[in-house]
Amino acid sequence: MQLPRYKRKKRIKLKVCQEPGCGKQFWGHPIAKYCPEHRDIKNRQKPKKDYDSIEKNNMLFRHNYTDVVEIPFKCCMVGCDNDFVVKVFPKQFVYPRFCMEHRNAFKRQNFLRAMRRKQAAEARPGKA
Ligand SMILES: [Zn+2]
Ligand SMILES: [Zn+2]
Repeated sequence: MQLPRYKRKKRIKLKVCQEPGCGKQFWGHPIAKYCPEHRDIKNRQKPKKDYDSIEKNNMLFRHNYTDVVEIPFKCCMVGCDNDFVVKVFPKQFVYPRFCMEHRNAFKRQNFLRAMRRKQAAEARPGKA
């Protein structure tokens, strides 16, 4: 007589999702870290915001103003002549580099793309 085959027990445990702010309980392997929703990396928060974006969007403006003043700056975007007014505060030296239109990386990319297209069109031979 054969012994009934021993059914392998699944080592499933009640776990708590490691995603910050989620805390959902789920049944998973002992090594599982995330609930089914956050097992998908797309649903997880991005790792810390990079310092990069601060540097890319801002500039250091050294000044000795002791009052709040409004100063017109030129947009640092190549090809953009927009001025924008910046409120300069005493003892604050980091200010945006771009006009309102180009403060957003996506819009800057669009602007560059449009400019490249324009340049390509102008460089095309045979143009009257
Ligand atoms: Zn979760
Ligand atoms: Zn601009």
